[in-house]
Amino acid sequence: MTDVLSTTSDLASTYDAGRAYELDRAHVFHSWSAQAEISPMVITRAEGSHVWDGAGQQYLDFSSQLVFTNLGHQHPRIVAAIQEQAGHLATVAPAFANGTRSEAARLIASHTPGDLDHVFFTNGGADANEHAVRMARLHTGRHKVLTTYRSYHGGTQLAVNMTGDPRRWASDHGSTGTVHFFGPFLYRSAFHATTEAEECQRALEHLEQVVALEGPSTVAAIVLEAIPGTAGIMVPPPGYLAGVREICDRHGIVLVADEVMSGFGRSGRWFAVEHASHGAGVVPDLLTFAKGVNSGYVPLGGVAISDAVHATFAHRSYPGGLTYSGHPLACAAAVATIRTMEDEDVVGRAERLGADVIGPGLAALAAKHDRIGEVRGTGAFWAIELVSDRATREPLAPYGGSSPEMGAIVKGCQERGLLPFVNFNRIHVVPPLTTSDEEVREGLAILDDALAATA
Ligand code: PLP
Repeated sequence: MTDVLSTTSDLASTYDAGRAYELDRAHVFHSWSAQAEISPMVITRAEGSHVWDGAGQQYLDFSSQLVFTNLGHQHPRIVAAIQEQAGHLATVAPAFANGTRSEAARLIASHTPGDLDHVFFTNGGADANEHAVRMARLHTGRHKVLTTYRSYHGGTQLAVNMTGDPRRWASDHGSTGTVHFFGPFLYRSAFHATTEAEECQRALEHLEQVVALEGPSTVAAIVLEAIPGTAGIMVPPPGYLAGVREICDRHGIVLVADEVMSGFGRSGRWFAVEHASHGAGVVPDLLTFAKGVNSGYVPLGGVAISDAVHATFAHRSYPGGLTYSGHPLACAAAVATIRTMEDEDVVGRAERLGADVIGPGLAALAAKHDRIGEVRGTGAFWAIELVSDRATREPLAPYGGSSPEMGAIVKGCQERGLLPFVNFNRIHVVPPLTTSDEEVREGLAILDDALAATA
């Protein structure tokens, strides 16, 4: 540390790992946690796809933290852009125009599909979804929002109400305006389907009925993750998103694609709505993003807005804003991230990583370990579903909970130098898109060992 940061700087005292831990437990209130029951790992250093803890142990990061370090840690171009921006103009309020923000918006608009050419910047994904819904409500004059079970849309109030995973349970007091429906998920089909085609058709018929029974003229928006991420990386069957688009068009409903986790190359396309299997040409009316837009180096999210929704606010003031909307440091990181992705074909790299290394590697693990019930994913966006019995598909941990078996697998991975992303009975394999084939194989070998050791 001392070679890159002065020992007399304001930060010098923060490099001591023991002190960092003590002060954390004394003063830092952690997300989604019982405060007295946690023991957070102190991360003191990171580089590429690796992080180091306070004791100097190295870990391969198969989680991309919270699926956001898409270009890995300490990427020199992103770090340099932030430093250059900080030295030049560290901050400016959103009402002013600024070159870095304008360029970030241009770059984002150049990669979003269709006419999603206008960008409202937020601080992250939850507030992006809040604003997308506000825009949809004002655009349609309607109030209801339909979202899927098995989804995550963020931790702010509306975003958590929209969420279809157990994190909603404690905070949603049966709020009006948000209605959940089942998206397609063949492995645990809500429709007793046995093929992808059946699942797709029944899921669309179900959504059609939900819209009809809620009253189409009351529904402002359907909000869904193009590929649900935290809830299990369920790649939808061919035709599903195209079918949702058609339902929205027929009823004048705004389609919001939440690409906070799936966007910016994670799925092997710039955006997950682009997968041909979804029905090529599915363009949502609003698309929310965060995380990968700048690899999470400085908080940034946003809503990409179609011409039609944008026109609603041409002569009508948009009633919303954020002090740090389009913060120059965050936008500088976005400019460097997106240009690097373009220059190095990072999206193609993610696609190949999935097709050639992660997918076949996980399939090989499934052939060896009975506890792997299903392998699914695309690009650098994969999950394995762990079960105690392949025939009954009994999850190795309950929905919304943990189990000693899952705990032992995670511990086994960490002891061997791997940081997995774990959710209930699932392990997600979501490394930085820049992780080398060898590093991915090394991580899969550790997972293999941890599964074998805990069988
Ligand atoms: N939407 C999706 C699909 C997400 O995965 C997340 C976070 O994981 C969010 C929204 C919330 O984003 P943030 O935590 O930046 O508010």
